[in-house]
Amino acid sequence: MTRILLVEDDAAIRASLTRGLTAHGAVVSSVATAVEAIKAVGSELPDAMLLDLGLPDLDGADVLTMIRASSDLPVVIATARDDEREIVRLLDAGADDYLVKPFAAAQAMARIRAVLRRTASSAPADRRVVVAGLVIDPVARTAALHGSDLGLNRKEFDLLLALATRAGQVVTKRELLAEVWQQPWGGADRTVDVHLSWLRRKLGETAATPRFLHSVRGVGVKLVPPDDSPADSRPTS
Ligand code: CA
Repeated sequence: MTRILLVEDDAAIRASLTRGLTAHGAVVSSVATAVEAIKAVGSELPDAMLLDLGLPDLDGADVLTMIRASSDLPVVIATARDDEREIVRLLDAGADDYLVKPFAAAQAMARIRAVLRRTASSAPADRRVVVAGLVIDPVARTAALHGSDLGLNRKEFDLLLALATRAGQVVTKRELLAEVWQQPWGGADRTVDVHLSWLRRKLGETAATPRFLHSVRGVGVKLVPPDDSPADSRPTS
């Protein structure tokens, strides 16, 4: 699950790219201005940014410079200008890659994945998700409870990561189907239920006696620190 911050002022392009990237399994938050983009980098904690250069308030190049002053966030720029000198200038200013409009969401997703692969190998292991005694490492793709590896299969891992990155929030089965199974138009709820029950078994709990995984009837499921965990390890909201 890749969290993408889409910065695009054209509402039609923004809607179409949001749909397309979501269909490719990304979690997309979108904004239309440079000011919102700079705020969202801090609040949404995206994995990557797709940045349109022609914005109404600031030039995309200035946005890039401002972000680079404080963040290594992978940035793919989208430009309508097929201007080689401009593109070179932006790559020098810290853009990780670029796309020339018009482009398909699939192409954008492929560029973002490639950029993330390149940055993952050099990134420090500080992106671990920790909830009480549960430690999930998205780079190594390992999950451990109180230091013991849970031995999760691929989907169980993706499911746990999807829930743990939003600890304390109810995540709907539809969202899980979109993020973990790349079925944004819905699939069998049963798929989610079956994997949840396997995940519960590996976490040493059941639906009747939940610790981390709490079903919210008719809505979805949320991951929370168990009641018996030390209070200081709970996420603050
Ligand atoms: Ca634009």
